[in-house]
Amino acid sequence: MRDKNELTRLYNKLIKIMKSYHPSSDFTMINRAYEVAKEAHKEQYRKSGEPFFIHPLHVAIILAELKLDKETVMAALLHDVVEDTELTREDLEREFGHEVAFLVDGVTKLTNFSVELSETDLSKEELKLESFRKLIMAMSDDIRVILIKLADRLHNMRTLQYQKPEKQIEISRETLDIYCPIAKRLGISVVQTDLQDLSMEYIYPEAYRSIQQKITETAHDRKKFVGRIIRQTKAGLNEAGIHADVQFALKHLFSIYRKMVNQEKTLDEIYDIYAIKIIVDSVRDCYIALGILHDLYKPVPGRVKDFIALPKANMYQSLHTTLLAPGGRLFEVHIKTREMSEVASYGILARWKYGIPGENVQTLSNSQKEKAEWLMQIMEWQRDISDNDEFIDLIKQDFNLFSETIYCFSPKGDAKALPKDATAIDFAYSIHSEIGNCAIKCVINGRESPIETILNNGDMVEIVMDKKQNGPNPEWLDIVKTGTAKSKIRKWFHEKEEEK
Ligand code: MN
Repeated sequence: MRDKNELTRLYNKLIKIMKSYHPSSDFTMINRAYEVAKEAHKEQYRKSGEPFFIHPLHVAIILAELKLDKETVMAALLHDVVEDTELTREDLEREFGHEVAFLVDGVTKLTNFSVELSETDLSKEELKLESFRKLIMAMSDDIRVILIKLADRLHNMRTLQYQKPEKQIEISRETLDIYCPIAKRLGISVVQTDLQDLSMEYIYPEAYRSIQQKITETAHDRKKFVGRIIRQTKAGLNEAGIHADVQFALKHLFSIYRKMVNQEKTLDEIYDIYAIKIIVDSVRDCYIALGILHDLYKPVPGRVKDFIALPKANMYQSLHTTLLAPGGRLFEVHIKTREMSEVASYGILARWKYGIPGENVQTLSNSQKEKAEWLMQIMEWQRDISDNDEFIDLIKQDFNLFSETIYCFSPKGDAKALPKDATAIDFAYSIHSEIGNCAIKCVINGRESPIETILNNGDMVEIVMDKKQNGPNPEWLDIVKTGTAKSKIRKWFHEKEEEK
């Protein structure tokens, strides 16, 4: 009885969230999906002893919190029925239409695939990349499949305490290695940070607890300091007529931990375990606010970062600066517009909403594909490349999994984000295939250089072309660092082959 009430309570919560953002008020089909899935799973229980159906219901709620369309929420409610119950894809197709059936089928295939994989004798690294490849391919069919998978993983991580210890670690590892980078690349940091912190709790339990404890211990002192900074900042911005929302936010445990490890520092030495977040009305106000802050406090040289003019690969935009308070204490400030702040939390989902005014949530998959250049690129590779190893190679490089980003500029001032150690050839192909194919040399910061030159952050690069040039040099395949360049070069040779 208690369980039954719990299901009803969660269902009401789901509908309440959906009503808050969804343009339609007709949730008949959601209700239908709820009833069908509940009935199908009725004899099944989770390790926690709860009815199994609690799980898909929570997954649907996570997706509703991300403001997803009805089909995605319905597919979330039904995401385990084909795998675990008598119902088939055909049943779903008949009852809920092609879209929902397609999404559930996509999720089911990914589940089956990871079981198959675990029975092979691939190395850990190979396994990881194989899983990646599969997820990316599913993503290019319909990104909503991946969103359901991410929500599924998030709920499983939230209820990981019921699993055996070795299983907990194994699942957490996989989450950190595979699901977090995908969430990060899509810019959905609300999901990414949750997944990271939950994984950390199982993989590095001691570090997790000691950072948590330290944060609690220092809370009082921090509150006093930050309170003063916020008051001064607000007053300064007010005086200049800048309408601003000033708050402070603690960083997530995993990002603090990673900083400690990377910089070989103790927690006491890490000053940026929190940041002051300033939200203003316009891009112009962001720069004015930065100026006002640099007037109020001394900025630390080399710590000013303009991610507004140079957005991160996952669309993140913000101004970052580190300031010195009287008394010698450092603190970090992030300045954004409201829209940028949405993108910082929801990534691809937010941009898509802002990108197409008046269009509603139902059209996520198509318009989002048009928007996300990066996703287009992956779809392109998939068409161009039949070879598995090569595809994996591309993912490794272009997913920015293991590499840092540098920014280089065209003479017109357009910025291109490239992985560290990218060459002028990569730069040329990042602008256009034609430019890459005809490139013969380049001019870097006014100096003529070979086209194979490795670029540095901030370089201004002009590509010198020769239209008579007979296509790319095959040796470039071993030199370039980006998947884009590699696939475009291969494509050129491929087409030439076919002409013959
Ligand atoms: Mn599931």
